[in-house]
Amino acid sequence: MSALTSIAAATLPIVETFHSVQGEGAWMGCSAFFIRLAGCDVGCPWCDTKQSWPRDRHPEVAIADLVEAAVAAQPQFVVITGGEPLLHDLTELTNALRSQGLRCHLETSGSASPSGSFDWVTLSPKPFKAVVAANYNWANELKVVIQTDADFDFAEQEAIAVPETTLKLLQPEWNSPESCDRVVNYVRQHPRWRVSLQTHKFLGVR
Ligand code: SF4
Repeated sequence: MSALTSIAAATLPIVETFHSVQGEGAWMGCSAFFIRLAGCDVGCPWCDTKQSWPRDRHPEVAIADLVEAAVAAQPQFVVITGGEPLLHDLTELTNALRSQGLRCHLETSGSASPSGSFDWVTLSPKPFKAVVAANYNWANELKVVIQTDADFDFAEQEAIAVPETTLKLLQPEWNSPESCDRVVNYVRQHPRWRVSLQTHKFLGVR
């Protein structure tokens, strides 16, 4: 079997694909095509994509079809997210997307081994499952969800592990309005951090 045939036949379990704007982080507001992979074993209690957790309840989609849909959308970049996308080997998917001239961004908790080739990596560690150490080095931005004051201690611990140049973002937990005040007050006192908001929820889009 040729390498091309192998990629065409390869599949990944997919929750959904959609074309929207990136709602969070440094690329907020940019045209983005999202590929949401199934499977997550982190178990965040406030997770807003719990439907993505069971890997086997979502259809296997050919990588070739994912690439075709992404090319048709003509976004500024493709965001590979989940679930926890690193539960899958992302090498073939990112190679195929990049071969079509598409930039690849990753959103990961970092709790599984790195794979694939990315132009931008958002590392969003969670206190419920430790980051695989190799994922700290490739983080372009560190994004920590804040629900309680204890989450700031966690954020500071994780910030020690990433490169100095990594953007450091604190994001209020969506269902906890008081966490917005917490984050704003903290950033005022700790200026190396920035506020990240889930603007797609304000806009009413995915
Ligand atoms: S890592 Fe992401 S997908 Fe997994 S439980 Fe946490 S928020 Fe949900």
